[in-house]
Amino acid sequence: MPPQPEAKDQERIPYQLPFPKEADREIVVPGVIPDDPKVWVPQKENVFFRPLCLNASQGYWMNLLRVTRAGLLTRHRHPQPVHGYVLKGRWHYLEHDWVAEAGSYVYEPPGETHTLVVPEDCAEMITYFQVNGVMIYVDPWGRQTGYEDVFTKIEMCRKHYAEVGLGADYVDRFIR
Ligand code: FE
Repeated sequence: MPPQPEAKDQERIPYQLPFPKEADREIVVPGVIPDDPKVWVPQKENVFFRPLCLNASQGYWMNLLRVTRAGLLTRHRHPQPVHGYVLKGRWHYLEHDWVAEAGSYVYEPPGETHTLVVPEDCAEMITYFQVNGVMIYVDPWGRQTGYEDVFTKIEMCRKHYAEVGLGADYVDRFIR
């Protein structure tokens, strides 16, 4: 080991050892709100998502959700927590009396079932969401009508990116 500098002179020396060999690659996404509209994956009428990290090994995904005027994200249940940060516009849940606006942070605890709506007078909302595990789509009485998990998200991305000419493998950069 070479002579060690004084502690006060070590602050700006990068870590000198290799990272664990099992550690995965980092992801850096410049321009999280994309200039190219093809990066937005259509989900249903007026609803789009933009993948940032599709974590297949741990079963969660980080994405921007974009809902345009008067759009609605179908009623669903979360068995695991969700974290959200509103970047643009505003929205609310039919099941709660608060409104999430640009700058708001939202925590959705396990057990939540809700329906996200964007009001008529809001042209567009964009929210950064971490979704863990699964979204279970349900009817008003909790009966399952569908689901989404990190694997269905990956599949939707592959199909869309192939169709718009970015290439099915465009999604691979977001998968860990
Ligand atoms: Fe939700």
